[in-house]
Amino acid sequence: MRLSRYFLPVLKEDPKEAQIVSHRLMLRAGMIKQQTAGIYSWLPLGYRVLRRIERIVHEEQQRAGHIPLLMPTLQPADLWRESGRYDDYGEEMLRITDRHKRDLLFGPTNEEMITDIFRAHVNSYKDLPLTLYHIQWKFRDEIRPRFGVMRGREFLMKDGYTFDLTREDALHAYNRHLVSYLRTYERMGLQAVPMRADSGPIGGDDTHEFLVLAETGESEVFYDSQITDLTFGDRQIDYDSHEECQAVMDEFTSRYARTDETHDPALFDQIPQDRRRIARGIEVGQIFYFGTKYSEPMGATVVGPDGARVPVHMGSHGIGVSRLVGAIIEASHDDRGIIWPEGVTPFHVAIVNLKQGDGSTDSACEAIYDQLRASGLDPLYDDRDERAGAKFATADLIGLPWRITVGPRGLANNRVELTSRRTGESEELSPRDAVARIA
Ligand code: ATP
Ligand code: MG
Ligand code: MG
Ligand code: MG
Repeated sequence: MRLSRYFLPVLKEDPKEAQIVSHRLMLRAGMIKQQTAGIYSWLPLGYRVLRRIERIVHEEQQRAGHIPLLMPTLQPADLWRESGRYDDYGEEMLRITDRHKRDLLFGPTNEEMITDIFRAHVNSYKDLPLTLYHIQWKFRDEIRPRFGVMRGREFLMKDGYTFDLTREDALHAYNRHLVSYLRTYERMGLQAVPMRADSGPIGGDDTHEFLVLAETGESEVFYDSQITDLTFGDRQIDYDSHEECQAVMDEFTSRYARTDETHDPALFDQIPQDRRRIARGIEVGQIFYFGTKYSEPMGATVVGPDGARVPVHMGSHGIGVSRLVGAIIEASHDDRGIIWPEGVTPFHVAIVNLKQGDGSTDSACEAIYDQLRASGLDPLYDDRDERAGAKFATADLIGLPWRITVGPRGLANNRVELTSRRTGESEELSPRDAVARIA
């Protein structure tokens, strides 16, 4: 992409409405525009990041054997009357009436609808296990939308639903999700710690939230510092193996880590003092096992091996796709701007032309641009007629991991400058080597 032809409305001033750094940087970098409280347009740069996060989520879900589909944003109220949640859900649910006076709602989550799909089409235990998921906009009329996309009213969520014959199989599905989530967040450059949590309005007993530690997080968390030494890395896991998934679950829940709702001070006090941490975290995902809470009232049953019909065991598993954009920035920025992890960056590298209009500098930039694209990378070429300082400031603000700076003086010696956004370190290299270094 050439910046002169792109749409990147960066702001010079700090927007007053932003209370936390990620919100401020998303507005300044021209990633989002608020349309009304908690409802945002995703401008091109923000949209790119959102799509990259979404793609990682899709890849990791499908690696774990989960099947994508797409359910609508609007749902009939009658489904929610069956489960009893139409009245229970309260004011967070946006209720809508159509021209025929039928009650609809903008889905805050999809347990009822997926259960309806399941009961319409699945009859036998032989069709289990089954995990269906989608990535779709949700609406929750949050009482206090704030922090930009972190607590929006309309937000993008991946929600997956597991259907199993037995509790044991359903717990395997739960463990499988934990494993896939660890991989997912690490690919985004994030450490998200699974913590024992409270099940809230979805109901059920077994639930973990994934929290990114950050001072601006809305949840209070209590943990043993040893939990943050654990990383998943590039382990190869057989997602069908109950033992392998259980082992990962055991490892990642082997240390005390809880949100305030389930915090147990007596247990916490047994951790050696120097390892006790009280901190704040951003909830970026949650996994639930809730048994037959929906399948029973809604009649989602299968014929079991003995010929008798039984309600299926279910779980639901969410990832806050749009919230992750903010959470990643909270975890990765400095006073000049965002520092994107490679896995989610909107562009891989900025090419800064120090003397736009100078024939040989322009053609060197064009050649680098073409080579980067040929090697499968997305460069952003700053070909505007601007001062070098302004170009550097933009590249730093929008947080691209690499910058290649091209000017006539360096080119005279066949040199360009390659700079890492994260470390700030620069190297003088030939244009060819600079491309090879990041490709
Ligand atoms: P919170 O405690 O922050 O209100 P939640 O527990 O109500 O979140 P879930 O029902 O677990 O949310 O939804 C799954 C994920 O969707 C959450 O882990 C979070 O990352 C994301 N999410 C929930 N509410 C919002 C929101 N208002 N804006 C953006 N993302 C959200
Ligand atoms: Mg909530
Ligand atoms: Mg929560
Ligand atoms: Mg939650």
